[in-house]
Amino acid sequence: MTTALEIYRDNAAAWLQTQIAEFGREARRGLSHEEDLALGRRWQAAKFGAGYSAITWKPEHCGQGLTALEKLAFEQEEIKHGFPNDYFGVSLGMPVPIMLRYLPDGWKQERATAALRGEEIWCQLFSEPAGGSDLAGLRTRAEQDPATGDWIINGQKLWTTWAQHSDYGVIVARTDPSVPKHKGLTYYWVDMKAPGVTVRPVRLAEGTSEVNEVFFDDVRIPDSQRLGPVGGGFGVAMETLTIERYQATDPAGFGPPLQLFIDEAKAIKIKGRPAIEDGRIRERIARTYAMQSAMGAIYERTLLSLAAGLQPGPEGAVHKLVSVRARQKLSEFAVDLKGVEGMRYDDDLTRKESWSKSWMTAPTGRIAGGADEMLLNTIAERILGLPQDHRPDKGVPFNQIPR
Ligand SMILES: Cc1cc2nc3c(=O)[nH]c(=O)nc-3n(C[C@H](O)[C@H](O)[C@H](O)COP(=O)(O)OP(=O)(O)OC[C@H]3O[C@@H](n4cnc5c(N)ncnc54)[C@H](O)[C@@H]3O)c2cc1C
Repeated sequence: MTTALEIYRDNAAAWLQTQIAEFGREARRGLSHEEDLALGRRWQAAKFGAGYSAITWKPEHCGQGLTALEKLAFEQEEIKHGFPNDYFGVSLGMPVPIMLRYLPDGWKQERATAALRGEEIWCQLFSEPAGGSDLAGLRTRAEQDPATGDWIINGQKLWTTWAQHSDYGVIVARTDPSVPKHKGLTYYWVDMKAPGVTVRPVRLAEGTSEVNEVFFDDVRIPDSQRLGPVGGGFGVAMETLTIERYQATDPAGFGPPLQLFIDEAKAIKIKGRPAIEDGRIRERIARTYAMQSAMGAIYERTLLSLAAGLQPGPEGAVHKLVSVRARQKLSEFAVDLKGVEGMRYDDDLTRKESWSKSWMTAPTGRIAGGADEMLLNTIAERILGLPQDHRPDKGVPFNQIPR
């Protein structure tokens, strides 16, 4: 019997098919970054029009009011076609949903809709040179002007995805250095075009600049742009990070599919014989296949627990850790196998189609959204029940922690 979820997935897949010619992978080939962003904004508007841009949001916030199951089903179908949705992943994934929780209804109708339609983009200003994995170690300061109640922000953020295109951002800053590090932080939203905000792109190894440094020099914001209590910023940050309980997963770790490797191994020759006949190649394929099947099983289990009304546990950490590492290894192997050709770098190919691009971007994939070592800690503590990691600065006032 066909379930309601399968019907939803089929309908979504059918609608996505009608959009491929205008927005899919082939339509994006050869576009400049600006043209691709413009296409991405139109893609968001098209999804909004069809009701697919906010599947789990409430109908009063322009959503479909459905569950994570429908969202996952849609994203799994969407990911197959290379649509230009990268620019909106952070914006709609975390900053806009947290604003929906904290701001009044008028804001929701106006701003959230603009973000859903791709007209406005939000960024997440958490990480800094001294506060990435340890978010509570951040040093950007926010001081309150006693005369006006405004907050004045000074400091530097780092790795801010799409800050160069962002209209607004959510930011965590230190408001009290005399208390333990988690307790002295406060959360705000900022206008990225405000005086004193400077965005400098960081060029990554593959030549793109989706991340940025952002400098705050005496940036003044009213107290009404604070989310949550003074000193309660760490809690709001954690709430932000857990909003997206389960992201769309891809057993290929957001790199090329195993089938591409198999096809190429059939075409490439080693000592005059197809590479697919070589024992080392066959072993690599078998290992990757086994790993991806295991990831598929974890994913199915997650779907079942979501369907049963449960929240998925820390298995997302296993999925991210294993799939991105395996992608890196397979990409490295493919680059070697292709010899000189393996290093050919084609700007028009995505990281899901090009082994060299996949190999070059895998290290940042292993850091963003939780570095391997942090995921291992999650697995150790939450799945294996091992004792908590050593935290020598626990309970120590921030300004007494040695630097
Ligand atoms: C492509 C990309 C996009 C990003 N986008 C954003 C964004 O939009 N907004 C944002 O705020 N941030 C963003 N980040 C930042 C990202 O969240 C951080 O880079 C990440 O949290 C790691 O922090 P760090 O770079 O400061 O490394 P560090 O925390 O300095 O870690 C360095 C190394 O030490 C290890 N380590 C640190 N602490 C421990 C520990 N307790 N136990 C074991 N090992 C440990 C780490 O795993 C890592 O290997 C992005 C990063 C990348 C690469």
